[in-house]
Amino acid sequence: MLTTDPWEADHLHEECGVFGVWGASGAAAVTALGLHALQHRGQEAAGITTFDGQEFRTHRAMGHVAGNFDSDEVIRKLRGDVAIGHNRYSTTGETAVRNVQPLYADLASGGFAVAHNGNISNAMTLKRELVRRGAIFQSTSDTEVIIHLVATSSYRTLLDRFIDALKKVEGAYSLICLTSEGMLACRDPLGIRPLVLGRLGDSYILASETVALDVVGATFLRAVDPGELIIISSKGLRSLRPFTEMRPRPCIFEHVYFSRPDSMVEGASVYQVRKAIGAELARETPVDADMVVPVPDSGTPAAIGYAQESGIPFELGIIRSHYVGRTFIQPGDQIRNLGVKLKHNANRAMITGKRIVLIDDSIVRGTTSLKIVQMLREAGASEIHMRIASPPTRHSCYYGVDTPERSKLLAAQMTVGKMRDFIKADSLAFLSTDGLYRALGEAERNTQAPQFCDACFTGDYPTRLTDQEEVEIPDQLSLLAERVI
Ligand code: SF4
Repeated sequence: MLTTDPWEADHLHEECGVFGVWGASGAAAVTALGLHALQHRGQEAAGITTFDGQEFRTHRAMGHVAGNFDSDEVIRKLRGDVAIGHNRYSTTGETAVRNVQPLYADLASGGFAVAHNGNISNAMTLKRELVRRGAIFQSTSDTEVIIHLVATSSYRTLLDRFIDALKKVEGAYSLICLTSEGMLACRDPLGIRPLVLGRLGDSYILASETVALDVVGATFLRAVDPGELIIISSKGLRSLRPFTEMRPRPCIFEHVYFSRPDSMVEGASVYQVRKAIGAELARETPVDADMVVPVPDSGTPAAIGYAQESGIPFELGIIRSHYVGRTFIQPGDQIRNLGVKLKHNANRAMITGKRIVLIDDSIVRGTTSLKIVQMLREAGASEIHMRIASPPTRHSCYYGVDTPERSKLLAAQMTVGKMRDFIKADSLAFLSTDGLYRALGEAERNTQAPQFCDACFTGDYPTRLTDQEEVEIPDQLSLLAERVI
């Protein structure tokens, strides 16, 4: 039986990464490299669509970028100087090729391909109306709703139709679209999901994170602003602001966990922010201990920050194997538990008899934390004090992040004291919400107008959640409730 790696399953997961290139020979190869750098944002499937002035060509497949785009034949087939690409992650919903992006449709104006990072939080409601008007959906992806809205808009030009469509959707979207006339990129008015713009020679690059620009040798120009629509064509680059201006609320979890530490998000180094988070954690929840140990790799920068601030030595008390994929064969419970050790193992020589501050980025279900604590105890640790580099995750995300339902979130079910008992640690503490904001350079969270989306910690969602407010879902539409991206 193939099953999901239990360590990965106990983290929140970004569901997508997007990449686009305009005006580079071998655009498909550049896009494959960009998607490879964004692999951490989606590991279930990947796709690329190109346009050579005549024809759109798409290759989409389940699996990692390297496996899907390592063949010369595939890359050669994807002809053209413009391309968009997408990495997909989903542990819920249908894992079918028809949901893998870019999605493509022939509209009255010509070909239209779209790659989307985020989640449309009124997709189900919009889909119900579109189906009532005769639309036939090919996938269970919320992204397809955007294509139908563009196709059925009463406006004349494609650009106006695109803007009209986006004014009807709620939620989070960083979109890159390819048309025969040019490339369209847009970030939702709150800027919940990231999107950046770069330059590679005379070409323009769009990507979810700056690391993808670095990897293809592009220069970072700037972040796409919340609510900004960028049009790239043979006439150059144009920027429009078609939406009512709103105070941005980008996802705070990009800084905590999703983005790669070598990326810059909203002008800040992810690595440095994570170290600052660790330092805040050390000031807020000090502990008398012999060493600071990260859960690698996600807890490592915060653990370095904690160690530097507290003066307690940093040690690699847990070693991560880099040769274990996200899925592996697990024939039974006994092997499943061994599977955990395949990925992380206690560095026994370092931790026997030691009092440990154990740092992780978050606790979701708590099953991973329980196993790590157990593993360190078996290896001889005398005390284990767990410190979490974010506030308790008490609410689900509806903006393109795979989260379990609230009943599965440990922090939604019990107090911190009870969580400590559950994971069998000697002590457990979380970073405060204001501490997280301080690490991001803010004095505190502005409760009247929060600077970030932090809804998974606070329950303060920055948009309406129209689909969640629906009480009855007709059977024939229920697939959309899976929020597949
Ligand atoms: S709910 Fe949490 S994970 Fe989702 S966008 Fe907001 S901060 Fe990010």
